[in-house]
Amino acid sequence: MTKQEYRDLVKANTRILYVYVAVLIALNFVPLMFVSSLDIGDAIRCIVALLLVGLTVTAAMLIHITYHANRNGLRCPHCNAYLIPVGASYIVIASGNCPQCGEQVLE
Ligand SMILES: [Zn+2]
Repeated sequence: MTKQEYRDLVKANTRILYVYVAVLIALNFVPLMFVSSLDIGDAIRCIVALLLVGLTVTAAMLIHITYHANRNGLRCPHCNAYLIPVGASYIVIASGNCPQCGEQVLE
């Protein structure tokens, strides 16, 4: 994989992450602003429901990002480490090596 191909794949992965974060904010934080107008029982039920939705969306995000990384080869061919965390992508772009094992991953 070339450095430009890797950059494009990391950008696509980051876009997926931003979409899920926007969905999480919309589904959880915006409705929480209206919880204060409810009585305590309804507020607790509302918060629990929002937390369950948030956990479901977070799980979907992790599965989707992992699937995207596996499908596009964003894993080290030597040690199988993911090459997509933000800090790891900077190391990979700068050095061309895996941040986990140090082996070359980019051409
Ligand atoms: Zn590695």
